[in-house]
Amino acid sequence: MTETATATVDAVIVGAGFGGMYMLHQLREQGLTCRVFEAGTGVGGTWYWNRYPGARCDVESMQYSYSFADDLQQEWSWSELFAGQPEILQYANHVADRLDLRRDMRFETRVTGAKFDETSRRWTVMTDRGDIVSARFCIMATGCLSTARKPDFPGMDLFKGQTYHTGHWPHEGVDFTGLRVGVIGTGSSAIQAIPVIARQAKHLTVFQRTPNFSIPSRNGPMTPDYENQWKTTYPEQREKARHSRNGVLTNPNDFSALSVSDQERTAILEQRWSEGGTRFMAAFNDLALNKQSNDFAAEFVRDKIRAMVKDPATAELLAPKGHPIGTKRICVDTDYFLTYNRDNVTLVDVSQTPIEALTETGLRIGETEHEFDAIVFATGFDAMTGTLTRIDIRGRDGEALKDKWEAGPRTYLGLMTAGFPNMFMITGPGSPSVLSNMIVSIEQHVDWVAGCIAHLDARQLDCIEADRDAENKWVDHVNEVAFKTLYPSANSWYMGANIPGKPRVFLPYIGGVGHYRQTCDRIAAEGYEGFQLLPPSREAVAAE
Ligand code: FAD
Ligand code: NAP
Repeated sequence: MTETATATVDAVIVGAGFGGMYMLHQLREQGLTCRVFEAGTGVGGTWYWNRYPGARCDVESMQYSYSFADDLQQEWSWSELFAGQPEILQYANHVADRLDLRRDMRFETRVTGAKFDETSRRWTVMTDRGDIVSARFCIMATGCLSTARKPDFPGMDLFKGQTYHTGHWPHEGVDFTGLRVGVIGTGSSAIQAIPVIARQAKHLTVFQRTPNFSIPSRNGPMTPDYENQWKTTYPEQREKARHSRNGVLTNPNDFSALSVSDQERTAILEQRWSEGGTRFMAAFNDLALNKQSNDFAAEFVRDKIRAMVKDPATAELLAPKGHPIGTKRICVDTDYFLTYNRDNVTLVDVSQTPIEALTETGLRIGETEHEFDAIVFATGFDAMTGTLTRIDIRGRDGEALKDKWEAGPRTYLGLMTAGFPNMFMITGPGSPSVLSNMIVSIEQHVDWVAGCIAHLDARQLDCIEADRDAENKWVDHVNEVAFKTLYPSANSWYMGANIPGKPRVFLPYIGGVGHYRQTCDRIAAEGYEGFQLLPPSREAVAAE
């Protein structure tokens, strides 16, 4: 459906993932007219695009789900502890149906530009279908991991077989039966996909530049008892998660790995390993802070890899040694390391000799040609900033967001950026976002934005904008907190290190979900400290 040039709404929301869906619901409840633009053909965002084999969440589904409406969380049942992508997508569609969200959504429509007009104090939002919509608020629910990235190897067009990116998987699925398949990358996506592809393919070759730490998920079917346990205690549990370190209830131990005996430390790590999942990192309170503590946990996992992988040389290649555990996103898997014991799987180390080019029949590394029928790029995303800077967003004085963020993103609280009034970001850079259970962070941001808009409306204010001073202090704080941890020592996408030329700054806020929520709530309660709230301008009043 195409808009007319005169379309006017209170808010344009970009993106129909979990962020955009909840934002739409909240603003509609407040009586605002909204238009959501979504590049895909349906809702679900991440779970719409990432349909690769094995894709599933690494936060238990009883926690990776909306908490804002009790009827929603009571009526939905997950079939597994960690739901697979199809079920999460089904859930997103169920929510869209229940809340009748689609009537305000335009699919297959990419927002190409958004421009703030200083006289009318309104945003003009443009799309690749020629829509031009005027809105008072522009809300970017564009996702942190929504711009898939392939390396620019020479010869990308030469290869005669099929290529896929995990983040752009064909809807009809891919059958690898009988095929020679190459997978490039060993991040979270690859670690989930590799065991499944290996079971289908004639031969699978994995190209690894950096090995990753991965913890077994211990996924299994949902039991009625477990589901009930959650559903009867949801109000307390959800509240606990909202005030926790990363939005997930991990039963964290509040003592250092150095404060216990060797025997006790190993027993605790064993216990966490057998429980599985990301709660492994909550075994001690200093794994992200103290290298010596981290070394114990890292060596523990390396030993597990050595015990699982039969070929010692392959095991050593798979055992990460170049970064502290957890400083690159920790992976969660089902049978990942055991997959390398299969006869039809080969690991190729490309850390010293990189992939040089794609060829007609496969790819080349040095003098060696590898032949494939299909190549899977599990090579990640231009995370946190890439999606936003690809939209031509212009604030005051025509300043482009892309230029403002040239040396790294600058935001106040990850919610707004100075010079771009009435433009909000859901889980933007400088907020906990990707370091958390993202549904918890999405709900917190959406609630804060909705509350902010209600505050403006109740006082007949027109506009909110972050102060440059407050923004500078927040950016400094985000960096200061990050550099107290071990995180910046890794070449991770958190640091922008996966994109050639991207500035190396720590993108999310590592101060903790609960602490961050308190900061945001305090700032709102104190009259939006660090923001300017403006009454309607004379020009805007005159224009009405
Ligand atoms: P998204 O789901 O990314 O949605 C953003 C939407 O905006 C997309 O549909 C995109 O098409 C649209 N969009 C972007 N730009 C434009 C534009 N210019 N015009 C129109 N539309 C646009 N998080 C967890 O907490 N736990 C997990 O287990 C977990 N697993 C993950 C697994 C994978 C494979 C990936 C990639 C991410 C995972 N994440 C996980 C993070 C995940 O992105 C979030 O949990 C959550 O789904 C993000 O929702 P969102 O609405 O903010 O963004
Ligand atoms: P990623 O973590 O960025 O991994 C990309 C992989 O591709 C890395 O191993 C990288 O190696 C490799 N790579 C990139 N360019 C390469 C090149 N030119 N040659 C060889 N290797 C190359 O991306 P991802 O796996 O898609 O995951 C991104 C994020 O999405 C995760 O960190 C997580 O937050 C989320 N996610 C979560 C889950 C889940 O379990 N629920 C699943 C998937 C994704 P280097 O490390 O050397 O750069």
